[in-house]
Amino acid sequence: MTFDPAALRAEFPILALRPHGQPLHYLDNGATAQVPRAVLDAIMRHETGARANVKRSVHYLAEAATEAYEAARNTLATYLNAADADEIVFTSGCTAAINLLAHSFGSRLDPGDEVLVSVLEHHSNIVPWQMLRERRGIVLKAIPVTPEGRLDLDRMESLLGKRTRLVALTHVSNVTGAETDVARVVAAAGAVGARVFLDGAQRAPHGPLDVRGLGIDFYACSGHKMFGPNGIGVLWGRKELLETMPPFLGGGEMIERVTIERTSYAEVPRRFEAGTPPIAQAVGLAAAAKWIAGLDQEAVHAHLARLTGRLLEGLARFRKLRVIGPQGLQARYPVVSFAIDGAHPHDVCQILDRHGVALRGGHHCAQPLMDAFGVAGTTRASLACYNDSDDIDALLAGLDDAMTRLGR
Ligand code: PLP
Repeated sequence: MTFDPAALRAEFPILALRPHGQPLHYLDNGATAQVPRAVLDAIMRHETGARANVKRSVHYLAEAATEAYEAARNTLATYLNAADADEIVFTSGCTAAINLLAHSFGSRLDPGDEVLVSVLEHHSNIVPWQMLRERRGIVLKAIPVTPEGRLDLDRMESLLGKRTRLVALTHVSNVTGAETDVARVVAAAGAVGARVFLDGAQRAPHGPLDVRGLGIDFYACSGHKMFGPNGIGVLWGRKELLETMPPFLGGGEMIERVTIERTSYAEVPRRFEAGTPPIAQAVGLAAAAKWIAGLDQEAVHAHLARLTGRLLEGLARFRKLRVIGPQGLQARYPVVSFAIDGAHPHDVCQILDRHGVALRGGHHCAQPLMDAFGVAGTTRASLACYNDSDDIDALLAGLDDAMTRLGR
C-alpha cells in the first residue's frame, strides 16, 4: 500500500475549489471533514438503485435498501471491532448518540449515583449529563485538565467512588488534540465497578478502532467527521449492556407489539432506532469507513505527525501566540489550538480565510476548557490525511499577515 497525499487530495472534488481566488487549504476537519468520491458514488448508487424504506415493505427496492442498511451496520461493526453487528446503533450523530446513552443508561441511575466527565469535554458530553442530573438527581463530577490540556488523571482516582456508575470522557480532545490514556481510565473505573463511555468524534476519523481491546463499554462517533455524510452517527455498546437498557425515542420499528394498553419493545439495536433511520447516510458512512480502512494507516499517521510538528514549530516563532494543548507529538492527534494575546479568534480566522485557509475560531463547544485556560476562544487547525505541507505553510504565512494587520 502506498500513500500519496496529492493523489488522495484528488479524490476530494471540493478541494479543487478556489475561495477568494486562492487554493483551498481546508484545516477545519475537526468540525467536518470533506467527502471523497468513493463515498459520493456510494450514496448516488444507493439513491438511484436501492432507495426505499427499510424493514417494512417486501418489494425489490425495500429489500435492497434493508440489505444495504444492514451491510452498513456490519461494516461499522468491523471498523470498531465490535463483537456483533447488533451492537451498532445508528443515530443522527455523535450528539444524538450521547443523548441516547444519557436517557437510556441514565434512566436506570438513582439519585446520588455519580457520572464522571471532564473539563476537556465537548458540550455534547456535558449537557446531556446535566440534563440527566435534573431528571434523576445524579451527581456530576469533572476531572480537571493539566496545563498541557490533558485530563489530569492523577486527580481522577480521588473523584471515583462506590457511587460512580459511568465515566464519560473524550477519546481525543477537539480543542487540544490530546489523546486520553484509556487503559488507565478503564483500570480505575473498573476498580469501582463503573462503566466507561468514550466520545470518539475526533478519534474515529483517524483509522479503525478496537473497542473491545480498549476495554470500554460504550463508544460514539459522527459520520461527517469521518469523511462521510451529515445526519449519521453511531452508538456502540456491549450487547449485554444494551439489552438491559430501555428505548429512548418511541415510534415505528422499535416495537415488538403495540396495543393501546402497552407496548413491548424490539431487540437491540432496533429498540433504539425509532422511525425511518438515516439510510443513505448509513450507506455513505460505511463507504467512508471502508475508504479510511483502505489507507496505509502507518503512513497516514506519520504524515500527519510530520505536518503537526511543522505547524507547532512554525507557531513557536510568534511571540504573542500561545498553543493551548500539548506542545509535542506524544499522545496527540493533529488538532492544534492557539490563542493570540489581544486578538479575537474570529478576526484571525477572517484574515486567514482571505488566504484560502479554513480554520475554526471560538470556544469549540468547550467553554469549561476555555474557562480553565482563561480565554474566550482559540483559533484551531484540525488536519486530515489530504492535508499537505502547502496547507501548513499557507496557514503560517496567513498568520504573519494577521499579526501585522491586528498589530500584534
Ligand atoms: N464530541 C466531540 C469531541 C466533538 O468534536 C463533536 C463535534 O465537534 C461532537 C462531540 C459532536 O458531534 P456532532 O455535532 O457531529 O453530533
